[in-house]
Amino acid sequence: MTAELPTDVDYRRRLADGGVIDGWIPAARLTRVGGNFRVTGPTRAQLSLHRDGRGRIVVSGSYAAPLEAQCQRCLEWMALTIEGRIEVIVVESLAMMPRSGEDEENDDDYVEAPDGRLPLTALVEDELLLACPMIPVHNTSACQRAVEATPAESSETHYKPFADLAALVKAARETDD
Ligand SMILES: [Zn+2]
Repeated sequence: MTAELPTDVDYRRRLADGGVIDGWIPAARLTRVGGNFRVTGPTRAQLSLHRDGRGRIVVSGSYAAPLEAQCQRCLEWMALTIEGRIEVIVVESLAMMPRSGEDEENDDDYVEAPDGRLPLTALVEDELLLACPMIPVHNTSACQRAVEATPAESSETHYKPFADLAALVKAARETDD
């Protein structure tokens, strides 16, 4: 059995207790997931806190979020599990991070834990949002639009492909900025 994770945790205390952060985040807490996506169940997070070779506290592990995404070709909703890994260095404040020297050469990611509180929900939600595909679409074999578009089935009254295409191109350009 795993437990519901708190919104944030005292990361030093967790580290002293063994560093295990294993549980789930209720869908209602992931309020920034929206648009073409919706959360359909609890997100599992299996994380741990440890110190790296330089004495920095790292939170690492994995998460899996059950979502539905709206196919941007046929507009049907489809189940989509987003899974990913997390590995970030915990810092009290990003403003205190060095901006020169050796740290410019690596691509370490940081998470801010003000007052010793590691924002678990926000951390997982950030990673989840980054992992969502820019333009979700079915596999061709599963897509209603792709089936309709076969020559024997096509009907111009069902849709306006070029209107959709223009919207997709516009969306892609906007997200490129
Ligand atoms: Zn589709």
